[in-house]
Amino acid sequence: MKTYKIVLLKGDGIGPEIVTQAVKVLNRAAEKFGFAVAYDEALLGGSAIDATGVPLPQETIEKCKAADSTLLGAVGGPKWDAMPGHLRPEAGLLGIRGALGLYANLRPAVIFKPLRDASPLKTEIIGDNLDIMVVRELTGGIYFGERGEKTVNGAQAAYDTEMYSVPEIERIARVGFEMAAKRDGKLCSVDKANVLESSRLWRKTVARIGKEEYPNIELSNLYVDNCAMQLVRNPKQFDVIVTSNIFGDILSDEASMISGSIGMLPSASLGSGKAGLYEPVHGSAPDIAGTGTANPLATILSAAMMLRYSLEEPEAADSIENAVCEILKTVRTPDIYTDGMQKVTCEEMGDFVCRLL
Ligand code: ATP
Ligand code: MG
Repeated sequence: MKTYKIVLLKGDGIGPEIVTQAVKVLNRAAEKFGFAVAYDEALLGGSAIDATGVPLPQETIEKCKAADSTLLGAVGGPKWDAMPGHLRPEAGLLGIRGALGLYANLRPAVIFKPLRDASPLKTEIIGDNLDIMVVRELTGGIYFGERGEKTVNGAQAAYDTEMYSVPEIERIARVGFEMAAKRDGKLCSVDKANVLESSRLWRKTVARIGKEEYPNIELSNLYVDNCAMQLVRNPKQFDVIVTSNIFGDILSDEASMISGSIGMLPSASLGSGKAGLYEPVHGSAPDIAGTGTANPLATILSAAMMLRYSLEEPEAADSIENAVCEILKTVRTPDIYTDGMQKVTCEEMGDFVCRLL
């Protein structure tokens, strides 16, 4: 039997509660689909600061590098807010992404049919369901370019630089095309090529990779301002969107919010190897930690993404996603509760998903 090595970074706030539920679901899926999971735990964020003085201990990096994949809860909280920047829990998050070379961030924006009412969009715009994948470049662009302050005409000024190399664009383009090949065969590349030089290189390079390596994928291009508008006006035109770091930051938040509930959104960060880092989009929600009311579905869906993209267990992934969709017809945690549903705790939600699996 195949055994996968998974590192758990439970983190802070609701992190431990939601990761525990995802582990339960992973174990049930393993039982059903005939594989085994060996877990190891490591420290990240506030809990790591408390135990070791730093948000990202070297031991955590080494454990994650040696594993088949990593599942993260969430980090941070008011307890560590006064720490200097490089010693804050969030620095640990950026650090682990960098240390593992994770250059592609995958953020699905899915509206499960039973949750259509939670979306700020009208149901006629959503249709039966909505399923968009935003692929964001994560380690280049303006967030990592040359920056500084200077004096211009006697006035104080500051600048940031957007730069992408051809290899950086090629590798993220391939992630986008591969994703499109696994889905509806459509890729939309988003840039600002009417204004930015880096965007012109982006557009040219994505087009070449498409022509040379993925002739069967239908490639389209949109300017980022138009894309932001289209996501609200007619989101069903999108399947996979690939874009730069800063545009992806903004568009993935916009796309995810059309689902209407932060407790439902998973994410994946991938590098050149198979191993990735999987985590819910939401934070550590310190306001509800320990109350048993956290929604574990974003973390459970992150575990499903892990099964699909890192562990080659796509059937187990489908099965978890189907179970979640089914559960939502009758059972809800408080954050997505509506009248007539059964209100459950974090732990009960995990149990329901396991039972349906
Ligand atoms: P961070 O800086 O880590 O992103 P934040 O305070 O900006 O933290 P979240 O921690 O995501 O954002 O929380 C925002 C709000 O959403 C909070 O009121 C929190 O209780 C709620 N929330 C977040 N995640 C969940 C969840 N899984 N289930 C229920 N409520 C959640
Ligand atoms: Mg936040």
